[in-house]
Amino acid sequence: MKESRAQMKESRVDTLIIGGGIIGLSCALEELRRNKSVCLIDRSSIGKNNASWAAAGTMVVRDVKKFFSPLRRMYVQSVQMMPEWLDFISKNSQIEIPFIKGGCYYVYDFGRPEGESEYKILFSQVNRELASDYTEMTRPPFLENYLPDTCKTVYFPNEYYLDNRALLKAIIKTCDNLGLSTREEQIEGVEDQGERIKITLRNENIYAQHCVITAGAWCGELLKYFNYALDIIPVKGQMVTIPKFYDSPAMVFFHRDLYMVPRQNQLLLGSTQERRVWEEGFNDFGEQYLRNTLHKYMANVKFEAIQKWAGIRSIIKDRYPVMGFINENKSVIISTAHYKVGFAVAPLCATCMSQLIANEEPAFDLSAFNPQREKALYPTS
Ligand SMILES: Cc1cc2nc3c(=O)[nH]c(=O)nc-3n(C[C@H](O)[C@H](O)[C@H](O)COP(=O)(O)OP(=O)(O)OC[C@H]3O[C@@H](n4cnc5c(N)ncnc54)[C@H](O)[C@@H]3O)c2cc1C
Repeated sequence: MKESRAQMKESRVDTLIIGGGIIGLSCALEELRRNKSVCLIDRSSIGKNNASWAAAGTMVVRDVKKFFSPLRRMYVQSVQMMPEWLDFISKNSQIEIPFIKGGCYYVYDFGRPEGESEYKILFSQVNRELASDYTEMTRPPFLENYLPDTCKTVYFPNEYYLDNRALLKAIIKTCDNLGLSTREEQIEGVEDQGERIKITLRNENIYAQHCVITAGAWCGELLKYFNYALDIIPVKGQMVTIPKFYDSPAMVFFHRDLYMVPRQNQLLLGSTQERRVWEEGFNDFGEQYLRNTLHKYMANVKFEAIQKWAGIRSIIKDRYPVMGFINENKSVIISTAHYKVGFAVAPLCATCMSQLIANEEPAFDLSAFNPQREKALYPTS
């Protein structure tokens, strides 16, 4: 026992971040920009094999359904920060991050029973948000040969998407340039020692002033060290790419079933929404769902999957993220349950996390996302 303790390396940092998806990396970047020493730990490869790598990178009006809700407000404020934030990362890393105002077409087939009602739901949301600019038409002009004339389509010209994998690569490089230290291994223990947090790895103890838990759908495994639990519902999403068959930079959404997002000369086709599925990886169900749903709307498009993958989103019952301190002496923060909008909210989320750490007023009122709210975190002892 004595011998193994003697071999343990001891390290100290200002901020320790657990989980290297877009949320953890954004928080790391924000802390580094404040000249903090930061260590990021992931049990797997940072920026890979997680929801962030699997995502489509869309920022669209449909993703936050409750308009005027705190999440919707956070989303809008965060997306406004995006151009400047991406510019900093891109310049620092010398990696281009495609961020494209391609617009988005929402297609509803009135020849189907759910077509009209889903169209009305979209409008009841959109009409309440006067800022949304849109036009109506039968079909997207570039899909005239594929869709029936029983369709109704709403086009939002001001919607964006980014290349999430390019962003991950660029933000990793930027953090590296700014001095981030990283570990890619399992955590063996976490201890709240009052004035600091101790993380135990196989051969190392790391002590930090603050710890930020950003382990996506898997945050529950870490919360047990603090005697808390959180009922995260995993929602698996499977996607493929197919050859790009239309000549437009626009995204297209079909009802709530399917979307297409241009990525160079391919189209991302997504996604399944499999609640409570923890099993990772692409499978036959994903392939069949995507093939059948594509053909349900456009029977004459060839389903020729080029790449296939899957990821796990996290959501909790009230559909709001969980963001804030979890311990009394305000040294441990959690940021999770970002469901379908992790990329969209990343810049503002990271800003707020750093402000909490610095004991400043957050740029956004986080009270609706408080981990201690009803039906979020609960004590296990
Ligand atoms: C198919 C799909 C499509 C999506 N499309 C979009 C989209 O178009 N737009 C959008 O904004 N969002 C989209 N999302 C959602 C978005 O991807 C997530 O909201 C976001 O990636 C969440 O980021 P995260 O950093 O919280 O989690 P993750 O990216 O899952 O990262 C969590 C990290 O924590 C690590 N980890 C877990 N447990 C531990 C542990 N015990 N110790 C150390 N590390 C640990 C994991 O290895 C992982 O790297 C999509 C998601 C999916 C699956």
